[in-house]
Amino acid sequence: MRAGCKMRVGIDLGTTYSAVARYDQANSRPVVINNTFGKELTPSVICFLDNGDVLVGEDAKDMQAGGTGAAAAAFKRAMGDQSFTVEAAGAQYSAEDLSAILLKKLISDAEAVSGEKIDSAVITVPAYFNDFQRKATIRAGEACGVKVLKIVNEPTAAAISYGYSGSSEKTILVYDLGGGTFDVTILEARKGGIEVKGTDGNHLLGGKDWDAAVSKFVAEQFLDEFGVDPRDDESAKNELIVASENYKKVLSRSDSVTIQLKHDGNAGKYTLTREAFDAMTEPLLLATREVCAGLISSLGMSWGDIDEVLLVGGSTRMPQVEAFLRELIGARIVSNSDTDLAVVKGAAITAALYAGDSKKVRAFEIKDVTAHSLGALSLRRDGKAYVNEVMIPKNSKIPASVRKPFRLGEGNMTDVVEVYILQGESADPRDCHVLSKVSATGFENDGGGTEIEIEYRYNENGVVDVAAYQGGEPLIIESEPVPEDTGWMGEAPRPAERAVEKSVVICVDMSRSMDKIVDGVRPLDEVKRETAGFVRELAAEGAVFGLVGFGDKVGVIRDMTSDQGSIIGALESLKVNEYGRGTDASPIGTAAAMLSSRSGVRMILILTDGKWGKRDAAVAEARACRSSDIVVIAMGFGNADVSFLKQIATVDEGAIFTTIRGMGEKFSTIATAVKKGSMGLREGGSSDGGKKERIKTR
Ligand code: ADP
Ligand code: MG
Repeated sequence: MRAGCKMRVGIDLGTTYSAVARYDQANSRPVVINNTFGKELTPSVICFLDNGDVLVGEDAKDMQAGGTGAAAAAFKRAMGDQSFTVEAAGAQYSAEDLSAILLKKLISDAEAVSGEKIDSAVITVPAYFNDFQRKATIRAGEACGVKVLKIVNEPTAAAISYGYSGSSEKTILVYDLGGGTFDVTILEARKGGIEVKGTDGNHLLGGKDWDAAVSKFVAEQFLDEFGVDPRDDESAKNELIVASENYKKVLSRSDSVTIQLKHDGNAGKYTLTREAFDAMTEPLLLATREVCAGLISSLGMSWGDIDEVLLVGGSTRMPQVEAFLRELIGARIVSNSDTDLAVVKGAAITAALYAGDSKKVRAFEIKDVTAHSLGALSLRRDGKAYVNEVMIPKNSKIPASVRKPFRLGEGNMTDVVEVYILQGESADPRDCHVLSKVSATGFENDGGGTEIEIEYRYNENGVVDVAAYQGGEPLIIESEPVPEDTGWMGEAPRPAERAVEKSVVICVDMSRSMDKIVDGVRPLDEVKRETAGFVRELAAEGAVFGLVGFGDKVGVIRDMTSDQGSIIGALESLKVNEYGRGTDASPIGTAAAMLSSRSGVRMILILTDGKWGKRDAAVAEARACRSSDIVVIAMGFGNADVSFLKQIATVDEGAIFTTIRGMGEKFSTIATAVKKGSMGLREGGSSDGGKKERIKTR
């Protein structure tokens, strides 16, 4: 190894095969660095042997074919999936760990063959890889001691390796049909660089579906002839699927293929022509057209705007693909002669670009887009459901950064805002993927509908950062684990999550009439019982209570407390006429004073059975409550005066006239309204109806 010589490379970390390339400055072109077997492509396979040895690449593939040891393949699909692990020799390996093992092998082979030390790399990923998967890829690279210069999308890399040598300005559609996925990317290639316009895909559509069509044809022929369906037998079915891929490949170079199948003592022999194969798989091509058409129209383009189609992925070797696209688009169809190496070569060019290895390369600029919309979980304006508030829509140019204001609910005293970063287009969070979660703290909140700004930043690797601000000042952001169960996002928000402070002062009429038995019950006993139930119910929601007694005079029995036992105890010991010693004020004014330092939902609940003196003072105090947003509910029974109740109630349905026995039901209506936080009883409410989305708070 030459001392002091540091090399930057491009690495295609593929699902089935991987490759390493570097940029040859002398000849201004990317060159693939072979592995120690002298091959350009290294199988993305790892094999753990019982003796503790770990084989990677070619050796591992041989072992896999021989069925020895525990083999891991196609782990790239599980990148970022925490539930995926491979267990070998008592250790657990995530897709990220496996990728790091594979990368290490790719790097050590390339170093051995080139005689140079690799210190940094550009690694490619599928365009649809999300933030989490990209970060996992970067970590895998760094775990090998290599600096990851940039993450590049595979179609972009393929286009770079093609477009780099191109001269005139062109709009190119990259049609990537792989083994299990289909991706389409539209970009503009010009001499100075590449600008991606948009990307989309169908990740349930790929070469495997063409294999399945062959399997189906064979199985149906066999069933017809022998009355036995080979697909009913698991191992026969698997063998057929594997064989079908080979028959499919034969049809890429021949007009027909002869298929033999032995099963259950029968031997069938069938011929499948390319014509028949193309006809039976046409719906699959039409499905790829759908994806292309959707992307083209979402970009405000038409088919005529596409100058060239670049074919990428092993499945584009099927002649039907090119024929179909030629008829569909009429554009020039191009493909790299080395379809398998286009991606790694593009990565090598990008690595050189980053390093500024040559002037020609440095002048080349890559602009990419996001493949997914990113949003924040927030409360819908009516507060009744969670929604995905899109912050950065898909196909936005990256780097991108969007800052949006969010408002906390009125009366919400929280000091923590949780930001759930959602990936997906739908407004319904259940249709989205929860990428990550952060908490923001360090803001001031007076409960008056505090505004906080949330910022999402997409860097050019497609990795996301979240920041929050209040009045331009950055808040403290901490990343948090995503809860395993996020089912609640699809449900109506629970009141507790709104964290609205609730304070209720209960004012009980202590006049002598409360002692007089009506309908076989003593009003005061009923009031005690029902009020205690009400207190218990709301105390569970964190409400704070005060108790006021009134007759001729008014007295505070318990000042505001969250101790429900203290309130209930005081209620139980209530006796009529006991509070004749207090002030001359009305209970409303007394209660309002107790609530003056409270925030959130504030309520005065009056329970009375008679007519009041000093009515005017009471009405004036009620009016003052209304203007300072204290809700007055007046519940009357017996000789109470309905029109007076209406005058002191501050909300539409706040004047409640009931019988002693009907009191319980009315109490539960009030409790429900308080729990909702919005006070439900009130029309409109005090807020502006929430022009901005409210973010979830703890
Ligand atoms: P991925 O990127 O998904 O790992 P590739 O781009 O390597 O996949 O493509 C793999 C797919 O290409 C497989 O379904 C394989 O059967 C198919 N394929 C490879 N060569 C041919 C061929 N000559 N004709 C038809 N299909 C092919
Ligand atoms: Mg591919």
